[in-house]
Amino acid sequence: MPLSHRRSHLLQEKAEAVFPGGVNSPVRAFRSVGGEPPFLTHAEGAWLYDEDGNRYLDLFGSWGPMILGHAFPSVVEAIRDAAGRSASFGASTAAEASLAALVQKCFPSVEKLRFVSSGTEACMSAIRLARGFTGGDFIIKFEGCYHGHSDAMLVKAGSGVATLGIPGSAGVPAETVMHTLALPFNDLDAVRAAFAARPDQIACVILEPIVGNAGTIPPAPGYLEGLREITRQHGALLILDEVMTGFRVTLGGAQRLYNIQPDLTTLGKIIGGGLPCGAFGGRAEIMNHLAPLGPVYQAGTLSGNPLAMAAGIATLEHLIANEKAIYPQINQTTAEIAEGVATIAREAGVTLTTNQVGSMFTWFFTNTPVTDFATAATSDTAAFGRFHRAMLEAGVWLPPSQFEAAFVSAAHTPQDVAFVLNAARTALGHD
Ligand code: PMP
Repeated sequence: MPLSHRRSHLLQEKAEAVFPGGVNSPVRAFRSVGGEPPFLTHAEGAWLYDEDGNRYLDLFGSWGPMILGHAFPSVVEAIRDAAGRSASFGASTAAEASLAALVQKCFPSVEKLRFVSSGTEACMSAIRLARGFTGGDFIIKFEGCYHGHSDAMLVKAGSGVATLGIPGSAGVPAETVMHTLALPFNDLDAVRAAFAARPDQIACVILEPIVGNAGTIPPAPGYLEGLREITRQHGALLILDEVMTGFRVTLGGAQRLYNIQPDLTTLGKIIGGGLPCGAFGGRAEIMNHLAPLGPVYQAGTLSGNPLAMAAGIATLEHLIANEKAIYPQINQTTAEIAEGVATIAREAGVTLTTNQVGSMFTWFFTNTPVTDFATAATSDTAAFGRFHRAMLEAGVWLPPSQFEAAFVSAAHTPQDVAFVLNAARTALGHD
């Protein structure tokens, strides 16, 4: 019997009357995959529960933060405790320094940092700082990378922008993005040419070191090293946007995995344990250009919010204490899911390109190797949509777009792997 979505459908109708598309963030609307999004009531570990009493195995982890699974006891306890002492002060607390110390332990390149409330703010602020520090106006980003929805970053962006098939956004004046150069990912020659065309005018290169927002795309061997070398030669800053990869692909993010020392790093998602939190940080000499020490302005009423700090501390403390157990386990679970489904698909006559780094992965509905946005875009998004709907019906919640990474948490068990593979057999018509 098909799952009932009666209550979710009624809630969706109500939501559409008040929220554009019925949602508070576009990809949640399921527009590109079709069908209506279930409304969730609660989640525990690796399982999500909806208004109609259905449950789903979670393979999107709130878009990345929930690496320990949902309602992780020490995180819940930390939030409760902090809430009892006030949700916000707008003044300094010891918790900010405690979380900062944990971040620095994981990211030695972060000598100084600042907390913000989202990945968008972290990237927007890091770019302003890079411009203020170097005096350059131009910034280089890459097609299919998403760095939040600040105006200057909405050029050939990934995530919802790619999902909706739009090049950028209405409401962003051409003058605002005229200094944003969007180049193909994994192509060092394009970067060399951009620097040659504008010597001394480029403030920074910002990238997702492993792209997640066009689906998962790893950097080609030597690519990150090449970017490091080119930026150093030209006095531009290298900003690694580790909002998704930070504390995910290793405790120290992609920079530890690939041994790359950026000038600045942006963080989000896992750092707040599911609460709104982001951070940007790096070399002290650069960070000291921020107000009140320097001329680059940046601020936030809820920055360093006590609930977010508490959830972040509880999450990072658990990850640090259990690093050696957690990371090999989630990487292994992810490989079993990613490769297991790819095998089932092959047997059903569907060729997928499967990209995986650590506990993030994507099944691209194409047989072209996916190395940049152009190759990701060869995917059959209608086929992905059919697969998404069938998997949801079989009880597995995938990210609702071909151009988003899926995530596995420490709460996923071998039984959960078997559950996903069974669901895929049904979804791909291979019972
Ligand atoms: N950078 C990256 C790499 C991201 O994945 C995201 C969010 N998906 C952002 C920035 C923006 O973060 P937020 O949604 O918290 O503003």
